[in-house]
Amino acid sequence: MSAEANPFESLQEQIGEAAEFLDISEDELTWLQYPERTLEANLSVEMDDGSLERFPAYRSQFNGTRGPYKGGIRYHPGVTRDEVKALAGWMVYKCASVGIPYGGGKGGIKLDPSQYSTDELERITRSFAKELRPIIGEDKDIPAPDVNTGQREMNWIRDTYETLENTTEPGVVTGKAIESGGSEGRVEATGRSVMLTAREAFDHFDRDIAGATVAVQGFGNAGSVAARLLDDLGANIVAASDSSGGIYNESGFDTDALSSHKRTTGRVADFAESSDELTNEELLKLDVDLLIPAALENAIDADLAPEIQADIIVEAANGPLTPAADRQLSERDVAVFPDIIANAGGVVVSYFEWVQNRQRFFWSESKVNDELERIIVDAFEDLLETYETYDVSNYRTAMYIVAIERVLQAKEERGIWP
Ligand code: GLU
Repeated sequence: MSAEANPFESLQEQIGEAAEFLDISEDELTWLQYPERTLEANLSVEMDDGSLERFPAYRSQFNGTRGPYKGGIRYHPGVTRDEVKALAGWMVYKCASVGIPYGGGKGGIKLDPSQYSTDELERITRSFAKELRPIIGEDKDIPAPDVNTGQREMNWIRDTYETLENTTEPGVVTGKAIESGGSEGRVEATGRSVMLTAREAFDHFDRDIAGATVAVQGFGNAGSVAARLLDDLGANIVAASDSSGGIYNESGFDTDALSSHKRTTGRVADFAESSDELTNEELLKLDVDLLIPAALENAIDADLAPEIQADIIVEAANGPLTPAADRQLSERDVAVFPDIIANAGGVVVSYFEWVQNRQRFFWSESKVNDELERIIVDAFEDLLETYETYDVSNYRTAMYIVAIERVLQAKEERGIWP
């Protein structure tokens, strides 16, 4: 195992690589690579037994040139300030890649949510919402779900914010439950854009997605939905994993049954249809047509890259490849379609939710899905066009070029203040 890559340095390297194709100054490059500000808080929260526990928490507002800061909040024991900064930066370039009017931000609390009661999680979430209150708002910074957070946490954040502000402002967070102002299609949106990106990629290479073999590392919200939607297109989901391990079946899983097994038991292991158990690392090395890393950062590093056998990788997680792994795979002509388009469905439907909240007018699920498809297909076309025009060697760099040009254009038009 090579030393773990720092995700913030990975982000800066990715921006730097794309910047080489553009006529931009050192000053502009620095501006693109650093967050505008990062809030660091220590939440002191009363536990059920009366003790007081401290939770480090962060919110990074990376770049607000194209609109309000936008991005999720994750709960994970591995959360660090640099990780949150990287995730915030990826949001900037993700929103620009798909052309939605947002900057980028991200938040996180360092904790393992499985160790706390629902009441404790509610107090922790409301405590963070109180810290965030002065810097969020539907025109300022709009949180959303990320790893280990969902509708429940968003509903609590919205309630805390609206109570303290004495207002109604549902668009202050997205990813809410439907009755609390959420959008149809939001829960499935990240997995849907992974499916759409994979579909477009196979189409681009003139390959049939029906019958293609697929391995999904991380069977959470993004991975499980992507698997189910790819299964609907006729792909064969032969392997899936989560933090408890992985399973393999060469004839492909019934992904509906696997999703419900995961929902009831909390893991993919011990699924009746599995013929073999395998580790996350073994899954990543499978000789499949399509590999979907859908867990956390740095899943594929320089040590693992030479052993990757898949031809196409579509990133459902944020930052699952280290830059060193990325370079090796690109030299071997493995086509990697980056997170900043592939998992953008989540933030795109968050945008739709925000628009619906502001208009107090709600869309049908089919309208949401159609609009999402249009945005991802257009972004994929922009990606291919730039890949060819700039003659770059990988799709990530091409997508960053598209995004950086948009961010810089907006900056140029606004000018610098003061
Ligand atoms: N957490 C998701 C992401 O990484 C969604 C963010 C959002 O909806 O604002 O893209």
